[in-house]
Amino acid sequence: MNNTGICQFCNKSCGKHLKRHIRDVHEKIKSAKCEYCDFTCTHTTSLRMHKCYLERERQKTRDEAIAKGANPDEKINEKLN
Ligand SMILES: [Zn+2]
Ligand SMILES: [Zn+2]
Repeated sequence: MNNTGICQFCNKSCGKHLKRHIRDVHEKIKSAKCEYCDFTCTHTTSLRMHKCYLERERQKTRDEAIAKGANPDEKINEKLN
């Protein structure tokens, strides 16, 4: 589009590093990366959904562990009663 090396977002003159500049500075929000796994996506909303999924999975695993009596004593007592 432009070969001037001027960033269209912040008007910074970046020369041949323009592409990298845009990617590093302005597209960071677009390349959202999950901090828990290698999941990456173009929208932060997708990342949020992904994290919701992760949280649900984690909750499920925890619930299963509790159901097996692996965790708190209260739960086991509850089951016995
Ligand atoms: Zn810029
Ligand atoms: Zn993840």
